[in-house]
Amino acid sequence: MYKFLDEASLTLPTTPVSVYETTNLYEFNKTTGMPYSVGGIYKDFIIILQPRDVLIKKGVFYKVLTHELLHWVLYGLKEEYQEGLIYWWLKDYEKDEVDKFLDVFDGDLHKFIISNWKE
Ligand SMILES: [Zn+2]
Repeated sequence: MYKFLDEASLTLPTTPVSVYETTNLYEFNKTTGMPYSVGGIYKDFIIILQPRDVLIKKGVFYKVLTHELLHWVLYGLKEEYQEGLIYWWLKDYEKDEVDKFLDVFDGDLHKFIISNWKE
C-alpha cells in the first residue's frame, strides 16, 4: 500500500479506517450480506474481513486486506473507477472493471486520481 501511495503521490486519508475481523463465515455473511467468495468489504471508513485464518488458508489475506485498504486511500475517487484501479494495481487483470479503468487511464496515477476525485 505504501508503494501505491508513493507511486500515486498520495498521503493517507486524515480519517482513520477501522478494520473488523469477523469470527466466522456465518458472521461475515450476516454482517456484510456478501457471499463467501468475497473476502472483505470496505464502506465509509470501515473494513470488514472474513476471519484471518480463513483468508490465510485461501492464500489471499494480504491481497484482500490491501485491496480494502486501497478503497480507504481512494475514498474520494469516483466509484466507477475504484474497483478497476485497485484490481489493476493488484494485477487482477482478468476482472472486467480493469478494462473500464484502462479505457480512461493515461498512465499518470496522480493526475487520474486528482481529476476523478468527487469533492
Ligand atoms: Zn473492491
